[in-house]
Amino acid sequence: MRDRANDAILAAFQPVLDDLRAKLAAATEAIRVKDQALSLINVTCENVHHNKKDQHTWSQPCPVVARIEKALATTPTVAAQWEEKP
Ligand SMILES: [Zn+2]
Repeated sequence: MRDRANDAILAAFQPVLDDLRAKLAAATEAIRVKDQALSLINVTCENVHHNKKDQHTWSQPCPVVARIEKALATTPTVAAQWEEKP
């Protein structure tokens, strides 16, 4: 009896679950493409904005580029985080 009730509830929610799975798959694919595009960006001192505290001379390493490169290197891609583990 209880199993039937559970089955009925699960069946009622199945279309909602299927819709959410489809939306998640679409969002994951969109983020994967954006992750790929982000990996192609060439971050250089000349094309990043420098706040007053980040201004430096030509001989000094660029703190803005260092900060961006560190973030890109240490942040796992969202798609990688979402991929199902076998
Ligand atoms: Zn710079």
